[in-house]
Amino acid sequence: MLGVSGYCRVAMKTTYIRAAVRELSGYVPGEQPQSRHVIKLNTNENPYPPSPQVIAAIAEVASAELRLYPDPLAVEVRRRAAARYNVDAAQVLVGNGSDELLALIMRACVGVGTRVAYAIPTYSLYETLVALQEGESVQVPYGPDWALPAALFGADAAVIVVCHPNSPSGTAVPVTTIEALAREATGLVVVDEAYVDFADESALPLLRELDNVVVLRSFSKSFSLAGVRAGLAIGPAELIAALCRIKDSYNVSRMSLAAAAAALDDYDWMEGNVRRVRATRVRLFDGLTGLGFQVTPSQANFVFARRPGEDMGPLHEQLRTQGILVRHFPAPQLRDGLRITVGTEEETAALLEALARLMGQAQPCC
Ligand SMILES: *Cc1c(COP(=O)(O)O)cnc(C)c1O
Repeated sequence: MLGVSGYCRVAMKTTYIRAAVRELSGYVPGEQPQSRHVIKLNTNENPYPPSPQVIAAIAEVASAELRLYPDPLAVEVRRRAAARYNVDAAQVLVGNGSDELLALIMRACVGVGTRVAYAIPTYSLYETLVALQEGESVQVPYGPDWALPAALFGADAAVIVVCHPNSPSGTAVPVTTIEALAREATGLVVVDEAYVDFADESALPLLRELDNVVVLRSFSKSFSLAGVRAGLAIGPAELIAALCRIKDSYNVSRMSLAAAAAALDDYDWMEGNVRRVRATRVRLFDGLTGLGFQVTPSQANFVFARRPGEDMGPLHEQLRTQGILVRHFPAPQLRDGLRITVGTEEETAALLEALARLMGQAQPCC
């Protein structure tokens, strides 16, 4: 039988699979439709193409170098990242997406019963990865203002994860708050900055003062390279060396390394796309607010739009039948919201138009 994920599920009598894995519900990614004829605003991809220099770099690798293994140390990407982010190359690790880097950090730091704390709702992969290590997730609910919950400060945890900006809220806490958190923390603070290029400030400067902070960056969102799978961990050299020991030797493909290096070389291209996304974000925010949604001001390339108390599942489905994909989370505390990626100006206009139409119909007459 095919499950929602498209993978085969068969009833099994055998017990060779670890209990932690048997019981894992598994991270559920957003839908990746086969058709190109949809307006895809459900997984926070960039609506604009990557730099032409990136395409050329991939083409060059594809035409001449696929026979060879990639550089296991990713020297070129690390050198560029170090120069760009003003750190030492020994403080940088390249991963097969920042998801891999999250998994490596959990593998390095979390064993049976190890406590990992984070505020929820957030990126649900954290919970999956902690469960896989048989660690204990300490989940502290955000309040309505999306400030970092007080219980996170001084939490008895080996690892604290801060999603900065957070998903699905799109909110970012001040870096001074993350600094205070890290100064009080007894363990490692992981700052997941997958969306930070769309935000006002990064936690990277904290690395100069603190040796218990690691920052994760992704090429998937701001650099328009979700299909490539590349991310960076930037942190204390000792941690980076440990992660390097446990990673697959050839964890990032030759094409991905070439793409990441070229993307860092053409930073202006990314920044241009980010400016456009941020401009459209204002328009999306205003449009959704005008339609009666409660929208949290966003620092990311998506917004979370709520109709408090209403299940947005049906509206999500109606949009889907109109060829517009947005993200709906079935969890009780998120059910009344839609997470909507900032698309192009045209896509955003089409979304707002469809919503106005659908919600107009849904409203009781007179
Ligand atoms: C997209 C995303 C990631 C993963 O990024 P990849 O580099 O594509 O693996 C990590 N964290 C958050 C919060 C994300 O939204």
